[in-house]
Amino acid sequence: KDAGKRTYRVFSPEMDNKVAEYIWLDVNLRKALEADGQLKLYYQPKLCVKTGEVHSVEALLRWDSPDRGRIPPLDFISYAEESGFIVPLGRWVMREAAKQAAAWKAQKLDIRIAINLSARQLTSSTLIQDFSDVIRQSGQSQCLLDIELTESCLIDDEISAHAIIRQFRELGAKVQLDDFGTGYSSLSQLARLPLDVIKLDQSFISSIDQNATSQTLVRAMIAVAKQLNLEVVAEGVEAEGEAEFLKDAGVDYFQGYLYGRPMPVKEFEEWLNNKGK
Ligand code: C2E
Ligand code: CA
Ligand code: CA
Ligand code: CA
Repeated sequence: KDAGKRTYRVFSPEMDNKVAEYIWLDVNLRKALEADGQLKLYYQPKLCVKTGEVHSVEALLRWDSPDRGRIPPLDFISYAEESGFIVPLGRWVMREAAKQAAAWKAQKLDIRIAINLSARQLTSSTLIQDFSDVIRQSGQSQCLLDIELTESCLIDDEISAHAIIRQFRELGAKVQLDDFGTGYSSLSQLARLPLDVIKLDQSFISSIDQNATSQTLVRAMIAVAKQLNLEVVAEGVEAEGEAEFLKDAGVDYFQGYLYGRPMPVKEFEEWLNNKGK
């Protein structure tokens, strides 16, 4: 700040902060992956609309930093995508989720786990090999993991996205299109992809019981999905009124705070136990 008139700075203070943050994340996320217990997966239930049963969960990454406390995924995932660190991080997520699915299976709980993949991970040449290694090492006869992809994963390179989705499905994973309706892919592009499920983004779900435009959009998206033989998940369901509308509109699965927040394993198991009571 004491730099005189004649000196000029390439970086503004905001940019300095950004660079400092990037470096902090670079050092500490690496440490977190090596250390025990800083990274965890939380699990959020998806319920079958018809039966009310828990069909599967979504794994959501949490980071408890010794310096900063809980850091939400949106504060470090984009850095990890930029730096490429999402690849080893994503491998950890896969392994952790596969272990958990196997542990539930051993307790006679039939719960599939969906993991999120970001666009950068799809460009990793080892992605499918990593996934198939994880499945094989889990010692299960059946793949218990599913995949959530966003449209941004698919538009850059439609042909390789197509091949990757097919390979995941051959390995026994269901492939779900996340945040559906928020991207820019065309319907004809979508129709060509060998998907299993679409997830309606929570931006359409919030107050859907009071918003005619959202209602029209959601009905149209569900109609498209049904034409393409895809199942439909609604994410971010928070209110009874929303759930009623969505059920009537033909949604297959509910996910949202109305049913359960993302929870650590123990809490999820307790929640599941109490559900039947
Ligand atoms: P997403 O995949 O769209 O996940 C849904 C987000 O909505 C989660 O935020 C979840 O906690 C939150 N949510 C669930 N139900 C409700 C609800 O009823 N109301 C509201 N307001 N929110 C709800 P979260 O856990 O903070 O994750 C944010 C994003 O970070 C995820 O968005 C996903 O894109 C990314 N992410 C999380 N874990 C991973 C991961 O392991 N790998 C990758 N590549 N991305 C991840
Ligand atoms: Ca997701
Ligand atoms: Ca979303
Ligand atoms: Ca809402």
